[in-house]
Amino acid sequence: MRVLIAEDDLTSRILLTKVLEKWGYDVTVTSDGAAAWEALQKPDAPRLAILDWMMPEMDGIDVCRRARALETRQPPYIILLTALGEKDDMMTGFEAGADDYVGKPYDPAELRARVEVGRRLVELNDELIEAQLKLEVQALTDALTGLPNRRAIVETLEAELQRSSREGTGLAVGMLDIDRFKRVNDEWGHAAGDAVLCELARRMEAALRSYDSVGRFGGEEFLVVVPGVTGSQLGELLERLRGAVAEAPFMAGGRDLTVTVSLGGAVFAGESMDALIARADDALYEAKARGRDLVVLAET
Ligand code: GH3
Ligand code: MG
Ligand code: MG
Ligand code: MG
Repeated sequence: MRVLIAEDDLTSRILLTKVLEKWGYDVTVTSDGAAAWEALQKPDAPRLAILDWMMPEMDGIDVCRRARALETRQPPYIILLTALGEKDDMMTGFEAGADDYVGKPYDPAELRARVEVGRRLVELNDELIEAQLKLEVQALTDALTGLPNRRAIVETLEAELQRSSREGTGLAVGMLDIDRFKRVNDEWGHAAGDAVLCELARRMEAALRSYDSVGRFGGEEFLVVVPGVTGSQLGELLERLRGAVAEAPFMAGGRDLTVTVSLGGAVFAGESMDALIARADDALYEAKARGRDLVVLAET
């Protein structure tokens, strides 16, 4: 683990560096507060910092305060080195955001123990962040298909709507629904139905451009977000999706199944998100009514 040392006294600095390296730490050395603050703002800043209190340019207390104001999920664990030793001074250190302090001259065994505590806390914090990130990803992913779930695809659409309104670029959506999917479940079982949903997800991803997005909007219904297109381009893209499904049978439950989908498309015309989705939905409904395995675009 990387440790930042900020100490203006040359002898103490060399000694500190030596002991920390002996204990297996990767040491970044600075000789004043300003340089320490700079090091702490870097993208992969040291996670542990041992700061001398009294330093030119910027003292350790000041570095603490600034480090605590950083917006980061991975704040440094800060140990203040203080020759002052008075109780009031110690409180100033804690109030500034120090996690611990060690009086000068320090006892190496005590310093080592305190640095180890810091290292454990930093590692624990990292594990928590990792678990949190995993949950965040899970909360936005459909467990069956691995596609963005409804919340995620709606968030994507919201962002694209804002961008389109701001930059005046084109935007369209498509609503896709599997035809007679209930029959697949009824005849071949729910597991076969699940396999069809997964295979469909793969085919859609393969057929879309890198800047398009597709998410599972409901049971067997998918929302496609298509930035930067006109009506005819949207028609071509949705037709490509339809073809990618109809052109070859699906392997599910050990047999080939013929699967088709119906699609409704709508080009953004300045309305609300709900109204845009509703237009695509109406077009989808019409595609179903006209016999399925079909693309219908909403009027603009
Ligand atoms: P239509 O062509 O009109 O869309 O007919 P449909 O049978 O596809 O439509 P309906 O809405 O009647 O049935 C949808 C079916 O999708 C019913 C439901 O059991 C199934 N379904 C929804 N989610 C899942 C899922 O996660 N796995 C499986 N296997 N089936 C699902
Ligand atoms: Mg000093
Ligand atoms: Mg259906
Ligand atoms: Mg449906």
